[in-house]
Amino acid sequence: MKEQQPILLSPAYKDYLWGGTKLKIEWGKETDLEILAESWELSAHKDGQSVVKTGAFAGCTLSAYIEKNGKESLGTKAEGMDYFPILIKLIDAKKDLSVQVHPEDAYALENEGEYGKTEMWYILDCEEGASLYYGFSKDVTKAEYREAIENNTLTEILNQVPVHPGDVFFIPAGTVHAIGAGILICEIQQNSNTTYRVYDYNRKDKDGNTRPLHIEKAIAVSDLKKSPELPVIPDGEMVTLAECEYFAVRRIRVKEEKELEISKQSFHSLIVTEGSGTLLMDGESLTFTKGDSIWIPAQDGGYTIQGKCELILSALD
Ligand code: ZN
Repeated sequence: MKEQQPILLSPAYKDYLWGGTKLKIEWGKETDLEILAESWELSAHKDGQSVVKTGAFAGCTLSAYIEKNGKESLGTKAEGMDYFPILIKLIDAKKDLSVQVHPEDAYALENEGEYGKTEMWYILDCEEGASLYYGFSKDVTKAEYREAIENNTLTEILNQVPVHPGDVFFIPAGTVHAIGAGILICEIQQNSNTTYRVYDYNRKDKDGNTRPLHIEKAIAVSDLKKSPELPVIPDGEMVTLAECEYFAVRRIRVKEEKELEISKQSFHSLIVTEGSGTLLMDGESLTFTKGDSIWIPAQDGGYTIQGKCELILSALD
């Protein structure tokens, strides 16, 4: 049996120590975990899978759904891939995250046995004065980089950027980055969990231990050039936020109704970031609200969004 209709997914939850409670209080995430740092809204990664919530495959993990419903659900763009292409998370950083970098595919495959990670952030919410680190504030040499790490002065040469809701950061593999305290983001990334931690503010856990750093690997993969200018995201009903070989991400704002097209090339993932509404497709309807994650299998066709809402549409094309 093949299922073509849109479905809702339930996320996997992560209670990392730096997380907050906004995803539970403001985003409708139901869990017994006290802290909720991340919800993995579209994930077939072994470290935390989304689970199908509606339709014939309710209760299946996303990878079981793909297996049962056929790889065509992913679309022709994913045909040659032997893994699920992307991972989408909501992240609530109550505290600063460590400064980190992800490798490119070639380095990651050789050293970690999985793909590298290019990612993007869409800022959903932030506290007054919140900021993050995005690459370097100037070109640096390997020697300068190493010295700054050793002297605990790395943040002095990083590009610190104040953030606002709606800002977009495209983070190619090799970009040194850190999410700052008080920021809530939607992260779309290559499906990989390889992270090299460069600096952790000398923090210690309750037992007095620091978290491991991966300095040599980080230095090997970091891009040492001054970080690029940030894009200005225009208003509009449908705006492209990021496009690369791994994913295309668009923001959709619906006032009453919007028609969208889908093709056999790629599935659609919709993360509801504001409001609520109904998705209509082939005589079926699916109601949704802020925080929901919707999956539509690849197929030639169209669907209609009704309501007043904002959605992040991720696809491979
Ligand atoms: Zn990252």
